[in-house]
Amino acid sequence: MSGKHGCEDFPVRLEPPALAALAPGNTGVPGVWSFASPSPGPHTAIVALVHGNEYAGALVLARLLSLGIAPARGRLSLIFANLDAFARFDRREPTASRYVEEDFNRLWCRAVLDGPRDSAELRRARSLRPLFDTVDVLLDLHSMLWDSDPLMLCGATDKARRLALAIGSPLLVVSDHGHLGGRRLIDYRPFADPGTKRAAVLVEAGQHWLEATVSAMFASVAGLLRHTEQLAEADAAALAPSLRTRPAPTLAQVTMTVTAESSDFRFVRAFRGGEVVRERNTLIALDGNAEIRTPHDDCILVMPSLRTSRGHTAVRLARRVPA
Ligand SMILES: [Zn+2]
Repeated sequence: MSGKHGCEDFPVRLEPPALAALAPGNTGVPGVWSFASPSPGPHTAIVALVHGNEYAGALVLARLLSLGIAPARGRLSLIFANLDAFARFDRREPTASRYVEEDFNRLWCRAVLDGPRDSAELRRARSLRPLFDTVDVLLDLHSMLWDSDPLMLCGATDKARRLALAIGSPLLVVSDHGHLGGRRLIDYRPFADPGTKRAAVLVEAGQHWLEATVSAMFASVAGLLRHTEQLAEADAAALAPSLRTRPAPTLAQVTMTVTAESSDFRFVRAFRGGEVVRERNTLIALDGNAEIRTPHDDCILVMPSLRTSRGHTAVRLARRVPA
């Protein structure tokens, strides 16, 4: 079976947004909108389209712009990160427009940003970097190929864990250590350095092309702007009515990252992201002849990729920890 996913596997139920009118932004940097309040406060950034085919986040930003959103204090920036990749979106091959040349979300270390390499994504990252260098609180809006319960990824720092829990939605917050393949935007040093107060989190809000994913993102955005006191409680509730009745989120720590070592990796059944496998030592997958078993009780399956090629992450396993 080829690694490409056709549209028959993942129906596109969400219309891509028309972004031509929004693409210029209002800051001189394409795709960047920024609004300042006369009252002092944090600089908050909400980022969409880090991956070009994950346009649920762009629908959210477009809606915020059409509502004329303005922060009650500080600054609010809305960023369409990879418009060039999004422009290539084709519903007949909806997974092909994740990026143009390389993954925008693996570039965020100084050695790469300051290094000699060049690509469409690196040029874009370098043009956005001065803005990110002024951001105090960042929410990066992502979605997933495989249908999964929404979750928030907060990296390894306590400050980002606290931010994710304070946002209050999604109800699962996962502390992790990122990807071996390169640093994500939320791992960019100014955010990931425990010595600063600045923090960034990433929401994986659901399947790329479902309306429910847009709603989950609105809940995170409303929770964020309520937490930063940039949006009044009533305005936050109008953006996401479900936010008021939410229980406190659960915090989980990644205990193991399962990488496919063979070209024949398969789960024993179609697990859904967010599922909890109760018993330790339960068989969840076969990698060639090797058995993959849960390393502990109450094992949370984080973003299982039901078709994984060799060398790629198949699933992360996590355990609930005290919040
Ligand atoms: Zn993504």
